[in-house]
Amino acid sequence: ATARRSPEGGLIKVESDSTKYEEGGIRAKYTDRGADVVKGADGKFTVKKTEKNYEFFTKTKVGNVGLMLVGLGGNNGTTVLATHLANKHQIAWRTKDGLQQPNYIGSVVRASTVKLGVDPETGKDVYVPISDMLPMVHPNDLVIGGWDISGVEMDQAMLRAKVLEWDLQRQLVPHMQGVKPLPSIYYPDFIAANQADRADNLIPGDDKQSHLEQIRKDIRQFKTDNNLDSVVVLWTANTERYADIIEGVNDTSENLLKSIKESHDEVSPSTVFAVASILEGVPFINGSPQNTFVPGCIELAEKHQTFIGGDDFKSGQTKVKSVLAEFLVNAGIKPLSISSYNHLGNNDGKNLSSHKQFRSKEISKSSVVDDMVSANHILYKTATELTSENENGEIIKKGEHPDHIVVIKHVPAVGDSKRAIDEYYSELLMGGRNIMNIFNECEDSLLATPLIFDLTILAELITRIKYKSLDNKEQEEEEFKSLYSILSLLSYMLKAPLVKPGTEVINSLNRQRNALEQFLKACLGLEHSNDLLLNTRIW
Ligand code: NAD
Repeated sequence: ATARRSPEGGLIKVESDSTKYEEGGIRAKYTDRGADVVKGADGKFTVKKTEKNYEFFTKTKVGNVGLMLVGLGGNNGTTVLATHLANKHQIAWRTKDGLQQPNYIGSVVRASTVKLGVDPETGKDVYVPISDMLPMVHPNDLVIGGWDISGVEMDQAMLRAKVLEWDLQRQLVPHMQGVKPLPSIYYPDFIAANQADRADNLIPGDDKQSHLEQIRKDIRQFKTDNNLDSVVVLWTANTERYADIIEGVNDTSENLLKSIKESHDEVSPSTVFAVASILEGVPFINGSPQNTFVPGCIELAEKHQTFIGGDDFKSGQTKVKSVLAEFLVNAGIKPLSISSYNHLGNNDGKNLSSHKQFRSKEISKSSVVDDMVSANHILYKTATELTSENENGEIIKKGEHPDHIVVIKHVPAVGDSKRAIDEYYSELLMGGRNIMNIFNECEDSLLATPLIFDLTILAELITRIKYKSLDNKEQEEEEFKSLYSILSLLSYMLKAPLVKPGTEVINSLNRQRNALEQFLKACLGLEHSNDLLLNTRIW
């Protein structure tokens, strides 16, 4: 999980007719196999196998990559920069348990592995780090910068965050001293009033169009100053309130651009950053729960064919919840209620103690078990089976769902060490009941930081991947094109994954990880790992 880099061109060589290594990239053919299912009037299912053929091209040269964080001076922002610097300069520090080395534990890209195949001699599975699957930027090589409404220099901001051990902070101070976040935009109505005393580093004026232009200029400047080939912009600033979706204001890309020109009140800072990134052609990831991606913003990304991903880092409670809920439902056990309490003492908790900002978080946390519930119509009655009448005599169709509540409280004393308590109350065989309680406690920013590296590394990788369909035989040969703008492949790291309109949201953590693994393999022309292990079941 530390400093090893993959050689240029990658570490894996696939020997197959469908995978070709050429100047500058890897070309791989991949067949996407599925099934169309039709349920007849007699209740029988007719299944037709489907096959679609594609070719992927992955540019293998990574180049110099920059990461610009919005909220650089916050707990996550300072921990990202500190982790990067400690790893890059191999700074070890003393704790009461001994000497601690820097690492990237918690990063699915740097610290987890996938099964590549089997060693023919020993018959043993061979695993490789995800970071070795295709050429990816090493987090030590990123150039990190960004914006904050608080102008405190990065060494002081790290001290303020109280996340890392003192002996590490002490050694990092010389590396972070004098580094000041770029001035940002502050529209007080979008974050909690209790944040006002931080806002001392602002782009002057209140004209949103000139704010947009300044942010675009900052991105370009960062690129030229640091001789970068690509940049990823990531929002890890305060959670904003939801923006109202208003016809004529933010419903189409044209209206959104017009509203920025007119400095309309409902355009949030995070949307201005997203629009600036789209117009500069760089990926924008939203690590907070608010609806940055209003319909006009999604349409703008589609038009410019740039990448956007969100929403809200999936660091602790939600990750566990999506795993446990899936385990219970797939085991045929029926969760009746899931009750979640959090308390935390950092600035994020302070901001979330305000109702409108808490509401953004509540929405993002609440849909996480929906797909598991709707996948099991034996345990949960569907909307077609379950109709009721409301007091006005209207028929309401609503599927059965476990009760689900989320509470967040600000307790300054516990600082960044968040407590998350979850009760799972389920129905067992013959009316029995089961109560399971989880109590989780850890530094919130130590969970979010590796996700920020993963999101950056994968978003940059996706900018180097193109695809074409091989099935349009009659027409001229198709050109390679980029993937669709919304990066649902990043869902593993995000609580409320944004997906292509009209497609289903996958919350199951296993399915999200499989999708990522399968995609990386497809770019190499490999089939997905097969757990059938037929050779172990036959003579
Ligand atoms: P933080 O409050 O410590 O940091 C946020 C920073 O953003 C602050 O320094 C603040 O000054 C700055 N900021 C606010 N508005 C800004 C703007 N318009 N432009 C530039 N900077 C601005 O919070 P944090 O703990 O680092 O978390 C950051 C965000 O990530 C929060 O929205 C949080 O909800 C979200 N998140 C965190 C976790 C986690 O830490 N485990 C998980 C999921 C989501």
